[in-house]
Order: sequence, then C-alpha cells, then structure tokens
Amino acid sequence: MKKIRFLLSLLFVFLIGCTVQTVPSVKTQTAAIKSEQTQKPLSPALEIPTVKKVGFDVDDTLLFSTPAFERGFSQAEPYTDKFWEIVNTSDKEVSKVKEKTLKILKAHQARGQEIYIVTARNPEGGEALKKFLNEKFGVPENHIFFEPHGKAQTLKKLGIDVFYGDSDSDITAAKEAGAIPIRIERSPQSSYKGKYHPGEYGEFVIPESAK
Ligand SMILES: [Mg+2]
Repeated sequence: MKKIRFLLSLLFVFLIGCTVQTVPSVKTQTAAIKSEQTQKPLSPALEIPTVKKVGFDVDDTLLFSTPAFERGFSQAEPYTDKFWEIVNTSDKEVSKVKEKTLKILKAHQARGQEIYIVTARNPEGGEALKKFLNEKFGVPENHIFFEPHGKAQTLKKLGIDVFYGDSDSDITAAKEAGAIPIRIERSPQSSYKGKYHPGEYGEFVIPESAK
C-alpha cells in the first residue's frame, strides 16, 4: 500500500512538473516569436540613440531611376548639361520610389532625426528633382545636394552620422567622412552595374532592399 501511495505521489509530481514546464515554455516561445517580429529593426542605425543626421543617396537608393537615365541617353549626348536636365526633370514621371528605403527614411524621421540627400548627379534641372524628392520623402529642399565630384566633403561638412547608398563610392565616402555606411541593394533591373560589391567594406547590407 505504501509502495502504491509512493508511486502515485511520484506520478503526481511528474504530472505537475509537465504542466508547469509546458505552459511557460509555450508562452516563452510565443513571446520570442512576437518580439522577433515586432522588434527586428529595419536598419541597425535606428537602434543607435546618438544618431542625429542621416543621409541618403538618390539613384538606386531612394529611387529606381533607370527609366530617367534611359530617357536621357536616348535624347542627348551622355553626361552633357542637356542630358542631366532631361534626367533631373524626368523622375517625377518615370522613376520609382524604393519601398524599403522609404520605410527606413520614415522611421528615422519619426525619431526626429534630420534627413539629408546627397546625389552624384549634376545639378542641371535639379530644381525639379528637389521638388520631387521633397514631395515624396518630406525632405526640405535645402537639405538636398548635388555633388558630382564626390560626396565625402559634403557629408563631413553636414556632420552626417549615417549614410545609405548602393554604390561602393557611397560606402567609401561615408567612411571618409566618419559616418556609418549602410548599403542599399541595387535592383537587378538597374542599368548601372559598376561599383557594386555589397558587404565588401564590412558595411551592413539592408536585406531585401533592392525593390
Ligand atoms: Mg546610387
């Protein structure tokens, strides 16, 4: 009888143990999944509290602008003033905003951080591009810069903390200026194929940012 009572109490302890263990472990798992879904940052730079100024490149970063360049190439001598005027005034009609970059930019804005845009395009016809970028991204026109001879000096002068770009030269310019470089993936449909080695400089590459 004693033996049976002992066995029964063992079984009881075992069953209680199972219940106690099972319930929290399911809860813990669910919480872990939830936290991963809700807390996974769009960009590691959103987790850095000291960041105040954030910069973005234009072509293949904020915009898929291959159609604007194709229009330029078909209507003017490449890289002439006329060419840049066509490109810079065509974005509104033919370029597409890149969804992932837009989300990241909005998240930085929501944190009260200042947004700047620095492009390597020439400035001919640039007022139209500024207006378009202002409408689409809410970036003040006086925060938009054309730097065909290199971006590093401007990034440094502005005191940019984080710079997003698709090209190797965006990453190296950010590094030179003392900013954190972050790579945006270039769309495989982009007509521009040069200077693209994501991760080559040890920079963070935003996943699924080609679109
Ligand atoms: Mg670019």
